[in-house]
Amino acid sequence: MTDTRDPSAATPAPLRFPPRVRQAVAYQPDWAGQDREGLIRLDRNEATGPLSSAVAEALTAHIQRYGVHGYPEYPKLAAALGAYCGVSAESILPTNGSDQAIDLCARAFLGPGATMLVARPEFVIFGHAAGLVGADVLGVPYRPDLSFPYQEFRAAAATGRADLIVFINPNNPTGTPVDVEFIAEIAAAHPQTPVVVDEAYVEFTGVTVVPLLATHPNLVVLRTFSKAFAMAGLRLGYVVAHPDVVAELVKIRNPFDVNALAQVAALAQLERLDEMRAAVTEMMERTKPALVEFFTRHRVPVWPGAANFLLVRPGDCDETIRRLREAGILVRRMSAPALAGMFRMNLGSPAEMDRFMDVYRTLLPAPGGVEVEQ
Ligand code: PMP
Repeated sequence: MTDTRDPSAATPAPLRFPPRVRQAVAYQPDWAGQDREGLIRLDRNEATGPLSSAVAEALTAHIQRYGVHGYPEYPKLAAALGAYCGVSAESILPTNGSDQAIDLCARAFLGPGATMLVARPEFVIFGHAAGLVGADVLGVPYRPDLSFPYQEFRAAAATGRADLIVFINPNNPTGTPVDVEFIAEIAAAHPQTPVVVDEAYVEFTGVTVVPLLATHPNLVVLRTFSKAFAMAGLRLGYVVAHPDVVAELVKIRNPFDVNALAQVAALAQLERLDEMRAAVTEMMERTKPALVEFFTRHRVPVWPGAANFLLVRPGDCDETIRRLREAGILVRRMSAPALAGMFRMNLGSPAEMDRFMDVYRTLLPAPGGVEVEQ
């Protein structure tokens, strides 16, 4: 019989890792390792629709003409992103997903003993990236209704302890938006402190601080193609910042971290923004209100947030998640204590949402799922 044990795991690895690495926990997405094919995937804030056929054609044409043997360069992408954002190409840094942009900011602005200020619970990669460079997190809790804690955040910033101030607008998982005027106030009050604004969901909100860059050069805006542009699998994000900031951050990104196909797909997307905008309008003006109305009508507590996802608190969260899964629907269990008993779900296609509501109706406490009119 063949010995199938991994020979490299036979003896312990006596390597010395810095405690910050040993103590870190590898990111584990919910429902990891499952075959997701054929399921209704509402658990990762991904787009659920197919890739635009024009984008798929651009990818095929590129592969046929050029293959993938060349290292990528990014001047075209930076110019196109600059035009999309209304800044110069020098203000753009493409990254391997905005997760990498977060990592770059942690490595650029933080270090052992430094402090990152953020409202909590924040998008998990921020705390993770700060921890990996040995920094502490000064976390200001969101209000009990999950709105932004303006006064407390202002007071925390005023202590002067923060080496990096982070806004996630809107935040994931709470969906909480932050007033742009408040971000401007904080950036102006702390002109030498980098103020990172994660705008992963900007296409859904239309709210951005990019125009403020001209007057607030300490703002560092992070964006992604993973959400409204439906390209999470291609891993493309970007930083929008003062050219001096971009010139520093580019030193700590590897030269070819953004792959050539992500660039091709992004350029194709930016040439037909109408498609993305139509999909976003459909989601935010029709799909989302219908879903919120559904939960409200059935007296299920719901936090709609500002983006393409929402938080729901059913009577029995674990049981609800389990039964949704049995019906082929994945939602995300929340683990932060402030979000106990809640799950997060992103919007899907109208057909997926109809199916979701049909299944959810059968889980409601009233016998036979009879609607409770308000
Ligand atoms: N920021 C926020 C707020 C997010 O929700 C996400 C994705 N879950 C990201 C950044 C990272 O996106 P990506 O790395 O796919 O660009």
